[in-house]
Amino acid sequence: MRVASILSRIGSVLLGVALIATQAQARQWPGGRQAAVVLTYDDALSSDLDVAIPALDAAGLKGTFFLVGNALKPKQIERWRAAAAEGHELGNHTIRHACPQANYTPARKLDTSEAYDVPMMLAEIRTMNTMLTAIDGKLQHSFATPCGQHLAGGVDYLPALRASGLVRYTRSASWPGDGKALDPMDVPCRWFDEKSTGADMIAAVKSAERSGGLLVLGFHGVGGDYLRVTAKAHAELLAYLREHTDTIWVAPFSTVMDYVASHPENSGGKPQFVPLKATNSPTSSR
Ligand SMILES: [Zn+2]
Repeated sequence: MRVASILSRIGSVLLGVALIATQAQARQWPGGRQAAVVLTYDDALSSDLDVAIPALDAAGLKGTFFLVGNALKPKQIERWRAAAAEGHELGNHTIRHACPQANYTPARKLDTSEAYDVPMMLAEIRTMNTMLTAIDGKLQHSFATPCGQHLAGGVDYLPALRASGLVRYTRSASWPGDGKALDPMDVPCRWFDEKSTGADMIAAVKSAERSGGLLVLGFHGVGGDYLRVTAKAHAELLAYLREHTDTIWVAPFSTVMDYVASHPENSGGKPQFVPLKATNSPTSSR
């Protein structure tokens, strides 16, 4: 896909950035760690294979890669399979990445979520699960909503997705609001743009450490592709995380959410969001 085409499809200003903090205290994360950090990468981008995964491997950290079916390149399937085999998580980001037309201007109507209905969207998510199973052999996958939206023909498909059991956990991109309970099917994440430094990202991690919370970070390109962060900033973040593995738990999205789901006592059964202060640079979601 040409860069201009890709850029033309990049839509709305991110709805919000959020630090999700459960009321969990240091003793409540595995190994008595003070915070949990999840590193997620969207859209099956080449720079994720070429830059992000080698950087994660060098740091001994595991990430989650939300793949888009029609962005998968046959020549790269084996590399995704190898990434999964070494412990990175492959997640579902639909096949066609249909977003509301407002997020894709100009866009062919066929490619927008207005052209879908709820059963069509769920059928696509089911088929993408099958594609992922063919790659990684796993029967369960987590999900990330394209553009942070969950509309099909203008109808919220999250209730039907919950009822379907197709996915256990969904990463979103929306601002959670004060005191909102952590919803495993609508987990916010924080994004950074190309101007962001490693120090900016590390500051977010330190906030999570102070609050005893969970921080989900979202990336697209790393050192390439679109909505990128620089390879340098990303590497500095990973270096910090690697240096603090005794106090910060870095694990794939499903692993961390499995832990949260199986330890409701950590937060009296109701984990809470703690929004960040408005110091985040705006970025786009896709
Ligand atoms: Zn996406």
